[in-house]
Amino acid sequence: MVVLYEYIFRAKLFCITFYVCSDFMIEKYKKAGKIVSKTRSLAVEYVKADMKIIDLIKYVEGNIVEMGGMPAFPCNVSINEITAHYTSPPDDESTIKKGDLVKIDLGAHVDGYIADSAISVFINDDDSSPTRDGSDGQSEENLNIKMIEAAHEALESAICTIKDGVELGKVGKAIEETINNKKFNPISNLAGHSIDRWILHSGLSVPNIKEENTQIIHEGDVLAIEPFVTNGIGRVDDTNDAYIFMFLRKRPIRMVQAKKLLDIIETNYKTISFSERWLTDHIDPKYFNRAMRTLLASRAIYPHHVLKEKSNSRVAQAEHTVIVESDGCRVITE
Ligand code: MN
Ligand code: MN
Repeated sequence: MVVLYEYIFRAKLFCITFYVCSDFMIEKYKKAGKIVSKTRSLAVEYVKADMKIIDLIKYVEGNIVEMGGMPAFPCNVSINEITAHYTSPPDDESTIKKGDLVKIDLGAHVDGYIADSAISVFINDDDSSPTRDGSDGQSEENLNIKMIEAAHEALESAICTIKDGVELGKVGKAIEETINNKKFNPISNLAGHSIDRWILHSGLSVPNIKEENTQIIHEGDVLAIEPFVTNGIGRVDDTNDAYIFMFLRKRPIRMVQAKKLLDIIETNYKTISFSERWLTDHIDPKYFNRAMRTLLASRAIYPHHVLKEKSNSRVAQAEHTVIVESDGCRVITE
């Protein structure tokens, strides 16, 4: 997703390009989409209570590679009020618990052609005992399931609005109205995004709320649409934690290990965000944390902070990637 203030920053880095996808490109997008969709189904079957988050993430990223793709970003597993941008740091001990609302957001690319999709899963009590807050397990479960359903319905209604020539404001309106009809709120300061080759967030932002946005989408645009649903106030804030990073620029750096780390990052993840998990093999572990801190301090890399719902309420998410067509769109992650 695009955090809106960050969108302004990114828009300066990447120019927006309009083109109609060639058959060649569509085939690559379809392949990336299939990998994401199969991996998403496997992840939903795999996730269960008491599992380590890092095991789910490694399973997802491993499957993407096994199927012939590459992760387009570190798999995000964001739980309950954590809305997005959580991926496991190396040696993450945290686990998924009964009663959790788990959002799995995954992306794969094939030669830089990216598919991005997310699904939410409620980890239910097998023995239908009361949930850990002591409330009636049934109604707690119902609320979570209703939010998940609302996210899917909002995604469906957004997809139905999409075709060549449509204003982005109309997509946001469909999302917000669907969610409000279910008596929930969309997250207003998160949005979907356009995708270009090698670039996950390429310039357009697809709103999750009604807004005056007369920007037009065109045949051949690739869009990730991702409504977020909450029973809270519907805004996210940065937390202090960051586990997903992005290369920004080369910088003169004195610390040898940090310089080496930046070279590895630039070579492998120049336009794609990365996790520390993907880098620990390359650097002596005793220098790794200091090297990362050096790169952050010198603004050679950018931290994507973990995002949390402002009123600490739970959030559900659904996401698909689509290619805009003259009379509709093709969902590549179905
Ligand atoms: Mn996305
Ligand atoms: Mn996503």
